[in-house]
Amino acid sequence: MAMQAPKGTKDLLPMDSYKWHYVENKFKELADEYGIREIRTPMFEHTELFTRGVGETTDVVQKEMYTFEDKGGRSVTLKPEGTAPAVRAFIESSLYNEAQPTKLYYFTPAFRYENVQKGRLRQFHQFGIEVFGSKEASIDAEGISLAMRAINELGLKDLSLNINSLGCPECRKKYNDALKQFLQENYEGLCGTCKSRFERNPMRILDCKEKKCKEITKNAPTILDYICDECKDHFEELKKYLQAMDIEYTVDPNIVRGLDYYTKTVFEIIYKDLTVCGGGRYDKLIEELGGPDMPAFGFAAGLERLIMTLDAEGLEIPNSSYIDLYVGAMGADAKIASLKLINNLRKKGVKCDCDHMNRSVKASMKYANKTNCRFTVILGDNELQLGTAKLKRMSDGEQFEVNLKDLDSIVELLK
Ligand code: ATP
Ligand code: MG
Repeated sequence: MAMQAPKGTKDLLPMDSYKWHYVENKFKELADEYGIREIRTPMFEHTELFTRGVGETTDVVQKEMYTFEDKGGRSVTLKPEGTAPAVRAFIESSLYNEAQPTKLYYFTPAFRYENVQKGRLRQFHQFGIEVFGSKEASIDAEGISLAMRAINELGLKDLSLNINSLGCPECRKKYNDALKQFLQENYEGLCGTCKSRFERNPMRILDCKEKKCKEITKNAPTILDYICDECKDHFEELKKYLQAMDIEYTVDPNIVRGLDYYTKTVFEIIYKDLTVCGGGRYDKLIEELGGPDMPAFGFAAGLERLIMTLDAEGLEIPNSSYIDLYVGAMGADAKIASLKLINNLRKKGVKCDCDHMNRSVKASMKYANKTNCRFTVILGDNELQLGTAKLKRMSDGEQFEVNLKDLDSIVELLK
């Protein structure tokens, strides 16, 4: 039986890898501009990190984690998101003793046992940033500006930015009471999961994807009517900073986000109904996970969703994965010369390849065309004797005579 990849996973095939490089490079380039440095954390963690970090009442923890016992009897979980691991690393390595804020970015796979559908996989990939140590709304605004710019510069122009504030634990308590009062009379109509959320975390009910729960919460009170003055001021500052950077936004009081740790700012970036990026502030998480009382902000963007969207929009993605020069060889001596030539040219930064299939001249040309090589040259006894050869530009067939010893002029020609 032929083996198949597990449901909800995808191979990245060589003809598509340039798209990933393009998207990853864009995020990396901007992270560099913003003075954000990379962090890499393990693919799995102690399960408790996520039950505590992501929150026991979330879909991620209740339904979606890849949790298993290792051979030593420990419960471990494939990371469903990147924030809790980054916080764990920050605390474990005492990065809070360094100059603050600590600005981190990561690329990571994430694993969630979800219903597989368009833009929803079981292993997907995220670019994320986390900024620890500043409570200022300017951090939130800067993070949002990075996400908006990166996605914009990838070519997706019609982005909607939706923002909301979830307040601090005090505001949340007041709001949860009001929400419970509102939901009380429809309690029986809620789904099983939401019934269990009712006491522990009623706000999470607003994020339920079940139709009947959505219907019940349609006219629920909104958190923005319950946030305290400090949280309100923070939200107003965020808006001011966004305006200062010419970033348009919509306030959407229904954004809750799928993870429990958020406080104050939450936001989503949406492109044609698809959430491509989400994040916010989580001022209590570092302390919750055993670190000092330090505020934090972060977001994650889904790379599959972005690439899928770029494809669907037919946007041109620069492809620099093609070979500059393909060297064919007629005969054993020419093969040696061709290996030598490409070896020396590669040391000068030229992307080149030689024939490894014993191809005829015609077959070499066909191959070069098919694989989008920019130039080809065929070496034979004649070329070896004269020390010169003709480089053929594949786009228009024009030929250029070169001295095979004069590598620099070949490099120049291939530029
Ligand atoms: P959604 O509401 O779409 O389920 P989420 O709130 O679970 O998203 P986060 O946990 O904040 O999302 O993850 C950030 C981003 O990662 C999302 O905006 C999305 O682009 C992407 N993402 C989340 N889950 C998946 C998935 N199962 N498959 C592909 N991409 C995903
Ligand atoms: Mg989700």
